[in-house]
Amino acid sequence: MTAITAELDTKTKRTPVKGMMDNVMEQFNSAAEQVNLHPNIRKILSITNNEIIVHFPVKMDNGDVEIFTGYRVQHNNALGPYKGGLRYHPTVDIDAARALAMWMTWKTSLAGLPYGGGKGGIQLDPSKYSQNELERITRRFTFALADNIGPEHDIPAPDVNTNSQTMAWIADTYMSTRPPAERTANQHVVTGKPDGSGGLEGRDRATGYGVFLNIKFWAERKNESLYGKKFIVQGFGNVGYWAAYFLEKEGAKLVAVQDAFGSIQNADGIKVDDLFNYTKVNNGSIVDFPESVVLNKEEFFGTECDICIPAALGNQITVENAHTIKAKLIAEGANGPTNVEGEKLLLERGVTILPDILCNSGGVVGSYFEWLQNRNGELWQLDEVMAKLDKKMKESFNKVYEYSEKEGMDLRTAAYCIAIKRIEKAYIQRGIFP
Ligand code: GLU
Repeated sequence: MTAITAELDTKTKRTPVKGMMDNVMEQFNSAAEQVNLHPNIRKILSITNNEIIVHFPVKMDNGDVEIFTGYRVQHNNALGPYKGGLRYHPTVDIDAARALAMWMTWKTSLAGLPYGGGKGGIQLDPSKYSQNELERITRRFTFALADNIGPEHDIPAPDVNTNSQTMAWIADTYMSTRPPAERTANQHVVTGKPDGSGGLEGRDRATGYGVFLNIKFWAERKNESLYGKKFIVQGFGNVGYWAAYFLEKEGAKLVAVQDAFGSIQNADGIKVDDLFNYTKVNNGSIVDFPESVVLNKEEFFGTECDICIPAALGNQITVENAHTIKAKLIAEGANGPTNVEGEKLLLERGVTILPDILCNSGGVVGSYFEWLQNRNGELWQLDEVMAKLDKKMKESFNKVYEYSEKEGMDLRTAAYCIAIKRIEKAYIQRGIFP
């Protein structure tokens, strides 16, 4: 890391991401003990393969030039190309990108995909920039990263504050800068593109649908119905909205929502699509939604409910609020929403946690389908996509659930054990070069 970057990192450390790396390492180490992971492989997996930091200038609408810092961390590629999202957020820094890249390695391994793990993004608050500025920022970032990503090398996707439009700009920029004969063959350099530009029908809902499926599979194991169950959602973006949408269809009731702007509550139920339509005309915010009352930020996690879905940023459930949680099930739509200490308290109280690397893996599974579709020059139908997603999520859930029952461990540790054993196997088979 250069001196310049170290200085930037110290300046920008913020509470929501601070410690994410500690969390992922603690989770990894405790599973590594359980499976008696080979010490050499433990060394390899404790460190990232490559870390790319770029500073690049972009012309703003008023003619001024602003310098941005972008990151791409490639953690491990033992099982295939690096895979993972790009997020645009003030909390993006090298620590966050490292932790998030590691989580991707475990996630793709657990899902049985031919991928490794990577993550990155730009440190910025996208609400402060116009659409044209965001386009130029994205294209310039892609240009700076171009030699380090590629459809068979490192494949970004949407994450916090990036979407199918962002991916379309990346694909277009990347393809435009390839030699002529390679241009159109490189569409799968990113996944999560709009349909019509190589995107997969259903990729938009894949993560939220996967969260819903995990909750449904859990309820089936417990012989419980989702009908009438109360749930709360933190983050009403792509993941939170779609998870809520599918749960409501099953008869569950959304009783509180929190986003970056505020928290709302209605014990009689908030209609998911009414809230979604409201955010469209309210600058993306849930605040002041008519059929709801305001909730204090600190009270949100303590809302009376059965299921809690953190679907925003990392480190949201900690010792500060874990004891207030009423839900008996936490379904992690976000990456790293529960920190290690918070989790200990919850497990002691008998709360079940559907861990991020399982619970939100529908997104990257959808990405894999999109990548296959592009590689094979195919166009898949929505019903086909949803059925394949269902099958894949069920397999992962069953694997983790049964492992945890057999070994008498929590679901997160079970998920990690399965994920790291698969990577260990690849290293043992291939050995270490030279
Ligand atoms: N950003 C998503 C995640 O954290 C999706 C990654 C992908 O599709 O590559 O899993």
